[in-house]
Amino acid sequence: MKLRRSPNPNRNHPLHCPYCASTVLLPEIDTEFAWECLECTRVFEVKYHGQNEADALITPAVSTTSALQNSLRKRGHTL
Ligand SMILES: [Zn+2]
Repeated sequence: MKLRRSPNPNRNHPLHCPYCASTVLLPEIDTEFAWECLECTRVFEVKYHGQNEADALITPAVSTTSALQNSLRKRGHTL
């Protein structure tokens, strides 16, 4: 008999009950994703379904040195 199930990497930990905003939550043992609120006794699930594609491409941040050089160049300074 297996006493402890393997960790579920897709199980998220809610900070508040979505119904009464209580922070007294315990994992519900019936399913892999359910949580029980000890104040309102509701049982609910929090599931991660994935991530949508971003609307715009994320451009890498410019380094501090490059930003300074770009700023100086814009203002007419020669390097
Ligand atoms: Zn609650």
